[in-house]
Amino acid sequence: MTDAKLIDGKAFAAGLRHRVAKGVAELVASGAPKPGLATILVGADPASQVYVRSKGKLAAELGMASLDHRLGAETTEAELLALIAKLNGDPAINGILVQLPLPKHIETSHVLLAVDPAKDVDGFHPVNVGRLGSIVAGAPLDFPVPCTPLGVLMLLQDALGSLSGRHAVIIGRSNLVGRPVAQLLLRADCTITITHSRTRDLPGLCRQADIVVVAIGKREFVRGDWIKPGAAVIDVGINRIVAEAGKTRLVGDADFAEILPVAGYLTPVPGGVGPMTVACLMFNTLQAARRAAGLPFASA
Ligand code: NAP
Repeated sequence: MTDAKLIDGKAFAAGLRHRVAKGVAELVASGAPKPGLATILVGADPASQVYVRSKGKLAAELGMASLDHRLGAETTEAELLALIAKLNGDPAINGILVQLPLPKHIETSHVLLAVDPAKDVDGFHPVNVGRLGSIVAGAPLDFPVPCTPLGVLMLLQDALGSLSGRHAVIIGRSNLVGRPVAQLLLRADCTITITHSRTRDLPGLCRQADIVVVAIGKREFVRGDWIKPGAAVIDVGINRIVAEAGKTRLVGDADFAEILPVAGYLTPVPGGVGPMTVACLMFNTLQAARRAAGLPFASA
């Protein structure tokens, strides 16, 4: 049997970024203002600083206006909510991204609820969560959808074409990944099994799957003998491990070496789902700007 075909998320994300840049140029040429993405970082967490900087930089590269708001760690919830209210009312801003996690004295749910659902490019507002949770099969995704799950959907559709009738086993039920992935695949007419830390016989369930999506944060957890020959395995996990000579490297939640000879399709870590997240954020920002300009959502 031949090895699985690697799903090149890096290349797909580059193509998506290119399509977004083209969409931005077309929008601006039609007379609409540049799409505007506001990023908000509270505190000075080094990893968050890197994420926010790279998102702002990419937005600018794709022709968008990027406004970076850095607030001190002592910022109160009321001050943060006031900034969000100001951005909600600013027609130059189409997307508002509040970098998580927030300092402990700020209630994350209050902040997510404060963002205008139309500008919620992360797809975390309860209105958008509810829209995704109640979407019927095949209905258009004409509202913001969480970025990593949207990236998973795009990669699967690109690799497999129609997902209709396929059995997808999703490992992990977080609001960030597992649940929205399940909703998106259900909309695409998959049969869904959602699994979690209390699931019995996870290997047995996985062996029935045409598609396995794993997002649990446990290194190389899914083993080769859990996978049905020819199945597609999407590894969302990002785990940093100490490798040779004290150096660190990233591995996924799936055992790449064991699964490669069994699966039909497999995402590597890094270079699989990871690059899709920020590309989908840009896609969501363009979509929000199109809606603000009275244009329909564009397909990816
Ligand atoms: P999370 O909120 O910690 O959720 C983990 C989920 O995994 C929970 O539902 C948990 O079940 C389940 N789980 C834990 N141990 C399990 C086990 N032994 N068997 C079955 N299920 C188990 O994590 P997350 O935010 O979804 O992130 C998951 C992984 O994806 C992490 O490695 C994260 O870094 C990565 N990630 C990557 C991207 C990207 O851009 N590529 C984006 C987001 C996240 P319970 O609900 O029962 O506790």
